[in-house]
Amino acid sequence: MEQINWNAVRREVTGYLQDLIRLDTTNPPGNEILAAKYLAGVLHGEGFEPLVTESEPGRGNVTARLSGGGDPLVLLGHTDVVAVEPDRWRRPPFGGQVHDGYVWGRGALDMKNMVAAELMVFLLLKRQRIRLKRDVIFAATADEEAGKGNHGVGWLLDNHPEQVDAPFVLTEGGGAEFRVGDARFYTCQTGQKGICRFRMTAGGQPGHGSRPHRENAVVRLSDAVAALGRAELPMHPSRTIREFLERIAETQDARTAERLHRVLEPAHSETALESLPLASDIVSNLRASLRNTASVTMLEAGQKINVIPAEAAAWVDGRLAPGQTDASFFKEIRPFIGDEVRIEVDQYSPPLEAGVDSPLYRTIVEVMADHDPGARVVPSQSTGGTDAKHICPRRPSTQVYGFMPYRAAPGEEEWRLIHGHDERTSVENLAFATKVLFDIVCRFCG
Ligand SMILES: [Zn+2]
Repeated sequence: MEQINWNAVRREVTGYLQDLIRLDTTNPPGNEILAAKYLAGVLHGEGFEPLVTESEPGRGNVTARLSGGGDPLVLLGHTDVVAVEPDRWRRPPFGGQVHDGYVWGRGALDMKNMVAAELMVFLLLKRQRIRLKRDVIFAATADEEAGKGNHGVGWLLDNHPEQVDAPFVLTEGGGAEFRVGDARFYTCQTGQKGICRFRMTAGGQPGHGSRPHRENAVVRLSDAVAALGRAELPMHPSRTIREFLERIAETQDARTAERLHRVLEPAHSETALESLPLASDIVSNLRASLRNTASVTMLEAGQKINVIPAEAAAWVDGRLAPGQTDASFFKEIRPFIGDEVRIEVDQYSPPLEAGVDSPLYRTIVEVMADHDPGARVVPSQSTGGTDAKHICPRRPSTQVYGFMPYRAAPGEEEWRLIHGHDERTSVENLAFATKVLFDIVCRFCG
């Protein structure tokens, strides 16, 4: 293996990220074919035979493979991005400009940075002629950002499974550095909450607004909405959450460690959460991750001010803790909303959890210990979703991990800019992550 010139790699991977940002793949409509063709061009130039597929006109996916023989690892990234409000940006959101060591633009963090890094890793494996014991698949796919969207990796699994079927997947969702006291950590996403969005409808007697009665659908619905909004649902801490708390507790003084453990005791959980020396967004993620949640977000009732409607409905964004199902969730909320309200599920995807002791997870922990010996990797659970939501329901045995290490200067956590204005990534972090990901893949597959 030749010595890698990491300075040259830094320039090269930065260039890929800039190019990708300049392709407007805002979803909707997506147009990810632009990114798929661009990436296929780079791969072709290096002697690969990439496969480009279109799930719908304009919705493109690209995959390529390095053969090693054994169970594949997929380096997965989505190429679509969320919409921008260009007026609110200090630099053009599709400019891909580099200023003061930062690459600016939509997708710089979510997740064209990781697509560029994964591409770079994939190219390096070939250039360095790394001997592989597993296949390594590069896959850049469409349509992660649209809630119900399914033109990307899920579509590939349904229509071209031979391209992406694998027991291990590495993608976005983890790697952010955070501090608790003097201790530093990187997350590796192993868990994700499920989605159970539903509409609840209350019926009643229609009538004239001038003659109120006791069977008003709006009032019945309101009772259910208020009760659900105030409900304290039971805790179902996942293995990921337990490990997360335990690994942090090990590094803290006895008092903080006790508070961390108390998060898992139903009677003390809330007091403990409020007293933890953790950033507020980590605490709110933890609070929501411990249990199923239900947020009422939309209401529908009536057309005229003087008519009592026969029906009233509320839309609820329900999220499930790992191990929970739609049935167990509805059993939990029924006592609050009552038996009269009708429930119709609008969207369902089950919660997910990958092992916190699998060979890939252990490799991530080991490689990070080499690159940043002063920090630890802890498993994390997200209240939102990544492409894992398309993979795990179709392939329950596939272990999907979210990891791209991201160093944070104190008080300057870039990852907070995800989906925000002025999204940008430091070239330093991009280069660091590329190096780490290369070592992870070499150690896991080489
Ligand atoms: Zn993303």
